[in-house]
Amino acid sequence: MPNGRCSSAGSDASVGEPSGDQPCTSVFARAWAKAVVGTSYLPMTHAQLETLLQRLTDLLAEALRAEPLDLRVGHRVADELVASHVASAEALGRTVEVIQLRLIRDLDLVADDVEDRMARLLGAVATGYARALRDRTLDEQESIRRAAMTARAQAEQALRASEARFRHQATHDPLTELPNRTLFAERLAAAVDGSGDGRCRVGLCFLDLDRFKRVNDSFGHQIGDRALVAAARRLRQAVEPHLVARLGGDGFVVLVERSTGTGDVVAVAEAALAALSEPVVVDGHDVTVTASVGVVERRIAGTSPDDLMRAAGSTLHWAKSAGGAGWALYDAERDSREQARQELSAAIPAGLERGEFFLDYQPLTSLHDGSLLGVEALVRWRHPRLGVLSPDRFISLAEETGLIVQLGGWVLAEACREAVGWVGGSGRPPYVSVNLAVRQIRRPGLVQEIQALLRRTGLSPNRLQLEITESAMMTTSEEPVRALRALADLGIRIAIDDFGTGYSNLAYLRNLPVTELKVAGEFVRGLRTPQAHADERILASLVSLAHALDLTVTAEGVETGGQADRLRAIGCDAGQGWHFGRPASPDQILARIR
Ligand code: C2E
Ligand code: MG
Ligand code: MG
Repeated sequence: MPNGRCSSAGSDASVGEPSGDQPCTSVFARAWAKAVVGTSYLPMTHAQLETLLQRLTDLLAEALRAEPLDLRVGHRVADELVASHVASAEALGRTVEVIQLRLIRDLDLVADDVEDRMARLLGAVATGYARALRDRTLDEQESIRRAAMTARAQAEQALRASEARFRHQATHDPLTELPNRTLFAERLAAAVDGSGDGRCRVGLCFLDLDRFKRVNDSFGHQIGDRALVAAARRLRQAVEPHLVARLGGDGFVVLVERSTGTGDVVAVAEAALAALSEPVVVDGHDVTVTASVGVVERRIAGTSPDDLMRAAGSTLHWAKSAGGAGWALYDAERDSREQARQELSAAIPAGLERGEFFLDYQPLTSLHDGSLLGVEALVRWRHPRLGVLSPDRFISLAEETGLIVQLGGWVLAEACREAVGWVGGSGRPPYVSVNLAVRQIRRPGLVQEIQALLRRTGLSPNRLQLEITESAMMTTSEEPVRALRALADLGIRIAIDDFGTGYSNLAYLRNLPVTELKVAGEFVRGLRTPQAHADERILASLVSLAHALDLTVTAEGVETGGQADRLRAIGCDAGQGWHFGRPASPDQILARIR
């Protein structure tokens, strides 16, 4: 068993008396500290390092003296070194070196086997050190891995949360919080994707608040918005569990998946309408909103989201034009009829451009002497696919869409251009009578346009007559009447067309710049039978009233000589109809004039 005493202290030391080793161990500990300092970063002061190594030196000294030699002390010393960050290959090398060179000497250990014990203890320190280093590295790797995993999980969670937020924002209407068009389109596409049973049915309620603009106008947009929010909430509750989306503005749509028939979807529409029937109270205001609903219900097979939406849109339009506050059900026949009209109307501008429109002219014949007083220009469309179309097919369309302004402008210009050439007959050259739609009369620049047209073509104003229907005249306000007066002042004739089909109010004609009354064919038709005395008397008084107002009277739709005779007897001035001549080409008219 080794014995040791501290040479520097000069005193004897034996096992079990460690206090006597104190000064000697501190000398060694200082040397040890000097050896390892700077071999790795140490998170402690030099004094702290010395204190640590002093303790470890004591442990080593004790182990060298103890019997039997406990190698675990070597491991423990190594563990502590590594745990205290004296943890590098370099530090180990220096530690081994300083222990080897100085420990026995500094501690003054004397025993036969001290060298041998020392070597084994040193081996244990080295082994323990290597193991501790490896464990520490593994621990570090593990904690890095764990930290990385935690960080990734957190990042993923944050990403998922923000994705969900973004998705919500992208698929919901910010005002009402209802699903928006995007989400609705997704759900509708999924509902009709055809992966299910082809016999499955689907329904849509396309809902639009009636005259909601009025709510905004009278209460302001803020209250309007809140009324919308309230309406949206009611709708959602009323049609649950069906998806209701806001398509923008005051338009909503309900998707009825797995419908079992029209009744299902109509019930949803009725529930929606009922939900809106009570006024919404916003800021103490009673805001009443009604809605119109277009209902479409059909089998999934053979339909598409676009089809459904288009059909629902048309149906909503029907509900609206029926006065609102109700639902309409899709009707394929009506839809295809309207679609054909739509296509036809859309083709008008191109038709004009390609010169597909042309005019026929129908004589307006004097009932006194049979002379040709004028001709009415009647437009036709030589449609490339449908053949020659009569104005009944496209005039009302053009009026609805406003294309009548373009079309009517062309008619007017073409009629004036052709009429200029109608001279060379024996009598006075006939005037040309052109039908004018309300929209045309309401145009601000009408008078100037017509003036320019007359100048350009050289047609004298008294050879132009403008026909305005009675109903158009009645709905015309102050401004257009002034325009008509200006036109009349130029010398242009103004006729009321189809008189008798509207209000037939002669009194109001007094204040209008009208020169002629064209009595509708319906009146003349009554003259066909010999016993139609009532019609004849009405017509007779009409004629005398018109004459009293200084108006000439032309009877339309005169088909027989008998009718012509009776009209002449009544005092009617002129006649138009098959009896006098059907609408004919400009050449035929010219031939007749000459
Ligand atoms: P309208 O102005 O009352 O024209 C007379 C219509 O009665 C013409 O029909 C003419 O062909 C038809 N008609 C003439 N004589 C007889 C007859 O004896 N018996 C019967 N049953 N019918 C007769 P059309 O050409 O089909 O024109 C229909 C309507 O289209 C016109 O009625 C007019 O309101 C409108 N229209 C025609 N051309 C134009 C135009 O250039 N502009 C505008 N805005 N409307 C036009
Ligand atoms: Mg006419
Ligand atoms: Mg007419």
